[in-house]
Amino acid sequence: MTDPVVRLHEVHKSFGALKVLDGVSFDVHRGEVAALIGRSGSGKSTALRCIDRLERIDSGMITVCGHDVADPALKLRALRLDVGIVFQSYNLFPHLTVMQNIMLAPRSVKGLGRAEAVDLARGVLAKVGLADKADAYPEQLSGGQQQRAAIARSLAMQPKVMLFDEVTSALDPELTGEVLRVIEDLAAGGMTMIMVTHEMGFARHIASQVLFMHRGRVWEAGPPAIMSDPATPELRQFVGSELR
Ligand code: ADP
Ligand code: MG
Repeated sequence: MTDPVVRLHEVHKSFGALKVLDGVSFDVHRGEVAALIGRSGSGKSTALRCIDRLERIDSGMITVCGHDVADPALKLRALRLDVGIVFQSYNLFPHLTVMQNIMLAPRSVKGLGRAEAVDLARGVLAKVGLADKADAYPEQLSGGQQQRAAIARSLAMQPKVMLFDEVTSALDPELTGEVLRVIEDLAAGGMTMIMVTHEMGFARHIASQVLFMHRGRVWEAGPPAIMSDPATPELRQFVGSELR
């Protein structure tokens, strides 16, 4: 098997006296979709943030696309070129159109020429079904459209792995589906992804592996079938509470 795209090994992270990651290990291989599930406060967001070095780890090892993320000499820029991250809040620049939002990083970080960046932006907008919204401002879009634009902005950097942190949690149910369909298309296209989600049905449908976090550990991991047949009372209880 090839090296994993993302590997965490015995990762520990505390905020002050609060131990948030208590020996987290998992591998995500190319083309895999890993679903991170678990109760609020179990450390899911912190794990994602450590992968993109938005947080420093205390001990352990993280490698992402060959980058040693724990290395103090890590070139952050090189890491961030390979990793796309989308959060619950859309974070689009309100004073820029959708097209300008998407072109910004390819132009400034990758140094693309204007025409090239426009082509690229049109391509990713088509991919998320927003070809007709290029000139709209974020406030003119629905929450679902804004979130799709945020995904398009990430894709424009042509990342090797995408991290999604509860990207549908702020959306009304009728807007959730359109965002999940974009993620499903990305998965079908072979994108490597780690997604924190409360959409259990979607996780079951799309994930190649499910990582159930509890008290800062990967408490149970395996194929989506573990959600139907939990080995631990903690996962059983979690799945039960999510269904209610
Ligand atoms: P989850 O995403 O699973 O809900 P988080 O990783 O966001 O969990 O948080 C895990 C725990 O770490 C929570 O108790 C949270 O309050 C705490 N935490 C997260 N980020 C910080 C921070 N920057 N400073 C202090 N505590 C934090
Ligand atoms: Mg979180």
